Amino acid sequence: MEDRECINCKIQMKEAWINTGAGVLILEQPIKGFKRKACGVTTYVCSSCGHVEFVAENKELFK
Ligand SMILES: [Zn+2]
Repeated sequence: MEDRECINCKIQMKEAWINTGAGVLILEQPIKGFKRKACGVTTYVCSSCGHVEFVAENKELFK
């Protein structure tokens, strides 16, 4: 959880949920097999222009 600013409006974005049926969005490493690492995604939406941003919860996985 962090403060995100809309790139268009420069106001604070609100946290949102993406409804995928399961309620969560999972980001995975782009490799084949069962040992892929994955993490959740936090979603933010701007209440002024509607811009949506996804932020990986564990970005270190992708280094
Ligand atoms: Zn905005």
